[in-house]
Amino acid sequence: MKSNQTKSLYFKILFLSVCSLTLSCSWDRFVLSRVNESTTVKVKAAKELLDKDKITIVLTGTGSPLPSESIQNSTAIFVNGQFLLFDAGDGVAMAMEKLHLPVSEIGAVFITHFHSDHFADLGEVIDRSWLLGRQKPLTVHGPKGISDLVNGFLKSYQLEYHYRTKHHGEAVMPSQWKGAKTNEFSPKSDGSSKIIYEKDGVVVHGFFVNHEPVEPAVGYRVEYKGKSIVISGDTANSEFLKKQSFGADYLISEVMNKSMIAKVEKAYESIENPRLAKIMKDIQLYHIDATELGNLAEAAKVKTLVLTHMIPFVKGYVQTKAIYKDPIQKVFHGELIIAHDGKRIEIPLP
Ligand SMILES: [Zn+2]
Ligand SMILES: [Zn+2]
Repeated sequence: MKSNQTKSLYFKILFLSVCSLTLSCSWDRFVLSRVNESTTVKVKAAKELLDKDKITIVLTGTGSPLPSESIQNSTAIFVNGQFLLFDAGDGVAMAMEKLHLPVSEIGAVFITHFHSDHFADLGEVIDRSWLLGRQKPLTVHGPKGISDLVNGFLKSYQLEYHYRTKHHGEAVMPSQWKGAKTNEFSPKSDGSSKIIYEKDGVVVHGFFVNHEPVEPAVGYRVEYKGKSIVISGDTANSEFLKKQSFGADYLISEVMNKSMIAKVEKAYESIENPRLAKIMKDIQLYHIDATELGNLAEAAKVKTLVLTHMIPFVKGYVQTKAIYKDPIQKVFHGELIIAHDGKRIEIPLP
């Protein structure tokens, strides 16, 4: 009897050991295959985006400060092997990783103005690019105030930088590349542009836009091999934006349907919420209406107009058509793209 019990125990142990070994082997194989798969996907995505034969625009965030499902404002442009990021609203750092963008390759960030929906995730963009392997300097360009903003982020990340290098060592987390430098510039008040960035044929100009009382506020124009992409930043209808957008291949612009926001304002008044009614009234003063934008793009002979930072945020064919497509296409005859988070636009180069 005793011998039978011993035998049974022996078989149980043997059985459990075999199971555990099999499970452990299958987990090893699972982890290895996932690591391989994710590395392959990232390498392939980076190769595609850093391809020098085309420019790729990725709308990394199309939201605004108003509640919506979208990541706040941000646009990535890949040009001649360079990764340029325009604005860094809340959620963009994680969004870029989900989109498999080569975050460690970011070389320059351009901030349009100091509303938080355009810079809230800047600290994470700077930090994550380093954690994921950035081994080159990162410069954050922006109008007056950018140095204070970046230095504030760097101060709040001081301990984070220290712990990472101390734990992983200089070879893995070189302290030399942590943080970011700044390039603070003053846009010209006459509406003409200024070269902010120039590298291997890629030129980025900065120009003043009217987002009063937010000043400074700027837009950017990227040029390479005869192609031009304009980023409006946040702006009211502006002659400066029209001038800088003249003949642009792409104008990536904020937009508001003001008659719809006026209705929202009245609705808040009628339910006696004066605070939100006041906010809805105020925001109509410093954004560009859909019809105004259509007229601007038509007058500037813009080839493709890309809508981002849409206020209000709507989705669905019928709503998008009524609120943005119809008013714009009544006056603008170029191509219209209504962007969503992660939207990619490829521009072949001659
Ligand atoms: Zn904004
Ligand atoms: Zn703004």
